Amino acid sequence: MKLKEIQLTNPYLELPALCYDRVKPSPLQSAYLIHANPEIAEQLDIDQDELDTEHFVEFVNGALELEGSDPFAMCYAGHQFGFFVERLGDGRAVNIGTIATPMGNQHLQLKGAGLTKYSRDGDGRAVLRSSIREYLMSEAMNGLGIPTTRALALIGSGHSVYRGEWEKGAIVLRVSPSWVRFGTFEYFAHHKKYVELKALADYAIAESYPHLIGEENVYELFFTEVVGKTAMLMAQWQAVGFNHGVMNTDNMSIHGLTIDYGPYAFLDDYDFRNICNHTDTYGRYSFGSQPNIGEWNLRALMVALSPLADEERMSQILDKHYARLYTQHYLYRMGKKLGLDKLEQDDIDLVSHLLGMMQGLSVDYTLFFRTLSHYNGDRKEILKVGLYHQPMHDWLDAYDERLTQNTSTTEERHQNMQRTNPKYVLKNYMLQEAITAANQGDFSIVDQLFKLAQSPYDEHPECERWAGATPEEFKNKKLSCSS
Ligand code: AMP
Ligand code: MG
Ligand code: MG
Repeated sequence: MKLKEIQLTNPYLELPALCYDRVKPSPLQSAYLIHANPEIAEQLDIDQDELDTEHFVEFVNGALELEGSDPFAMCYAGHQFGFFVERLGDGRAVNIGTIATPMGNQHLQLKGAGLTKYSRDGDGRAVLRSSIREYLMSEAMNGLGIPTTRALALIGSGHSVYRGEWEKGAIVLRVSPSWVRFGTFEYFAHHKKYVELKALADYAIAESYPHLIGEENVYELFFTEVVGKTAMLMAQWQAVGFNHGVMNTDNMSIHGLTIDYGPYAFLDDYDFRNICNHTDTYGRYSFGSQPNIGEWNLRALMVALSPLADEERMSQILDKHYARLYTQHYLYRMGKKLGLDKLEQDDIDLVSHLLGMMQGLSVDYTLFFRTLSHYNGDRKEILKVGLYHQPMHDWLDAYDERLTQNTSTTEERHQNMQRTNPKYVLKNYMLQEAITAANQGDFSIVDQLFKLAQSPYDEHPECERWAGATPEEFKNKKLSCSS
C-alpha cells in the first residue's frame, strides 16, 4: 500500500478521557531518513518503494497525517527506583494510530516528537544517540527471539537538543501490539478511578489476552498471564545476558515485551552484579537483580489490580507461579545453550557451577557460549576465553561427563548450540562506534549493526572484529539515563 492509502484507527481513544491526551507531534527541523526497516514495512503492508520518499520522512517526522490520524499521548504512573510517582505518561512519545495486520493490531508511536501534557521537565525530544540505541536494540532483541517492541524507521535532523551539551534530535517510529504498562494501571488505582481502571483492564485483555474474554475471574486470569509472560521475559534476558537498566514499573509491558531502551547493556564479562545504569547507585536494576525486580513489579501491578480481583488470590498466584516458571524457563534456556538434549535433575548444579566459574574468571558471556558451541573435547580455544585454567578445567570435566548422556552427535550439538548462542550481540562499545560515526553523518555502521541485529547467529566475516571479547577499556561500563 501507498502511505496515503493507509487507514489508521485509534482503539485506545475509546477509553475514558483520563487515559490519554490528544496532542499533535512537533516535527523536527531538516529531518532526513537514517534507516527504515523493510520487514516492519511489510508487516504493516507499506510498499517498499515508499520508504525512500520525501513523504515517508514527513510521516516519520509527524508532519504528514494519514487518513484516520488522531494523535495522542498516554497517561501512566509508576514506581521509579522503588518510589511511586503518581503521574508520568508519555512525555515524548506521540501515538499516531493503529494498523490492523494479519498478526493483530500494531500501534505506531513517534518517540521524540515534542512536548506532551506528560513531559514534566523534559523537552519532549530524543537525541540521535539514544534513538540509534533504541532502533538497533529493539531489532537485535527480535533477532534473538526475545519479545520486544519494534521500529519502522529512524530519522535524524538539524534540530538541536540540549543534554549537558548540544546534540541532534531524532525520532524513532516505534510499533508494538501494546503500549500498556504496569504503571498505566497504577495511575488509575492510585487516583481511585475505578471505572477507568476496569475499562483499561478490559482494553488490555482484548488487546493482549483475548482468549480470556468472557472467563470467570477474568482479571485474576489476566494477572496470571502477565505473571507468566514476565517470568518468561526475565528468563530470556538472563539467559542471553541482557541488562535492561531501568526496570521501573512504567517500563514494564503488560504484553511481556522488552520496552523503553535506555542505558541497557549486554554483558561484556559475565558479572552477576553488573550495573549498566549510571544513576543506579545501589544496583537495584543490576543484572542479577532483574528476576527479583520482575516479581517486585508484578506485586505493584497486583496492588493496582486489587479493586478488580482478590488480592489474596493474586498474591498466591504470584507466589505459586512466578519463581517456578522463571526457574523452569531459565533452566530450559541454559540447557539449550549448553547443548543438552534434555534437562536432568542435577543440571541446575552444572549451571550454578558454570556461573560461579564465570564470575571469577572475567569471561565474556557471549564469546564463552559461542566458543563452547564448537567444543569437541579439545580445550585449547575455550581455555583462552577465561583468565585462569583450573576452574575452567574443573567445569569442563563436569560438562564432558554430562555430555555422555546426550544421544545427539557432536555435530548435531554444535549445530543446535550455534542456533542458540549468538555470535553477535550489540554491545555498548559497538553501538558507540555507530553513534560516533553517525554524529559525523556516516550511517554505515548503523547499517552494519542492523544486519547483525537481524541475524546474530550467522557468520558475518566482514564483522569478525565484533565477535570477540569486548576490548578491555570498554568493558562493563555504566551509561547515563539522559536521552
Ligand atoms: P523513562 O525513564 O525514559 O522511562 O522516562 C520516565 C518518564 O519521563 C516518562 O514519563 C517519559 O515519557 C518522560 N520523559 C523522559 N525523557 C523525556 C524528555 N526528554 N521529554 C519529556 N519527557 C520525558
Ligand atoms: Mg519509559
Ligand atoms: Mg526512556
